[in-house]
Amino acid sequence: MCAQQSRACVFLDRDDTLIPNNTLPPPADPHPAWKPGDLSDPDRVELLPGALEACRLLKQAGFALVIVTNQGCVARGSATVEDVEAVNARVSRLLVDSKGSSLIDAFYYCPYHPDGNVPEYSREHELRKPQPGMLLKAKDDLGLDLSRSWLIGDMPRDCESGVNAGLSSNRCLLIGEQGKFADVLAAARHVSKHAD
Ligand SMILES: [Mg+2]
Repeated sequence: MCAQQSRACVFLDRDDTLIPNNTLPPPADPHPAWKPGDLSDPDRVELLPGALEACRLLKQAGFALVIVTNQGCVARGSATVEDVEAVNARVSRLLVDSKGSSLIDAFYYCPYHPDGNVPEYSREHELRKPQPGMLLKAKDDLGLDLSRSWLIGDMPRDCESGVNAGLSSNRCLLIGEQGKFADVLAAARHVSKHAD
């Protein structure tokens, strides 16, 4: 028997990479600390166009899929960790293969923010992108090979977290208005073409 080879991974940002976020209208009864981008209700989760196809393509190419998401809304108090986990669970239930199994291997989120209102979470933290803590934790937990891994996100700090974790900068793909790729599907096609 061969020794088990560690898996290559595609790290995926969640908000505005896989699901609409900053463009969502305020909830009906927003928390006083709510601000655009805060998402606490799993019923408001939907996938962006191409997100499901992108994840299926990457999974078929053999990658582990790990979502890494900053959730400073917990530190600000407009969402709880339970809310974030409920939203993540909904994302997991929407991103499934043809048999209904989730395509997502693991979720990591950072509830910390230096300018929060909830003392427990109001500080800078190694998990918070652009720091690499979530990626490094996933590497240890799941036995990932970072030298063959990629990252897709819509903010420069997403890509910075990948580089800070040791990923090659040309494997950290920026999508959307600021990026080279229109959306997550365009980025996933690039990954599947260039995977080794
Ligand atoms: Mg984002």
